[in-house]
Amino acid sequence: MPLSTLCQHCGLCCDGTLFTVVPLQPSEESSLRARGLPVVTRADGSPALPQRCAALAGRSCTLYAERPLGCRRYQCQLYSALAEGEVDLSEALTVVEQAHTLLDASEAERGPQVEAFLDRHFRGRHRSPRVV
Ligand code: SF4
Repeated sequence: MPLSTLCQHCGLCCDGTLFTVVPLQPSEESSLRARGLPVVTRADGSPALPQRCAALAGRSCTLYAERPLGCRRYQCQLYSALAEGEVDLSEALTVVEQAHTLLDASEAERGPQVEAFLDRHFRGRHRSPRVV
């Protein structure tokens, strides 16, 4: 399916590029710990999954079908554009490759050009759990 294909080739919302943690539901904590994933406790006492996620292999989530609600809910601008038919999968994957190339080239410090690219394509809307 194109939407899951996009995410499984991207990983930018799971590799620490966009987020430092993903909030978890209290009920999700024990099963993730049982899988060997580290879970941290935030200042308000709620559990969270630190990023880069330990379940990420390369750019691909090894727990994709069972990923937490916080992961399911995140829908970046590019994901939305693909879901709404504003771009096709090939175009969306090209944007992903451009992002990774920019990030690889600016490993030490992300400049404003890289942040603007991430803002434009990857930061954005949180919605209800997505179905892919
Ligand atoms: S940043 Fe967007 S396209 Fe990339 S994995 Fe996350 S939701 Fe999918």
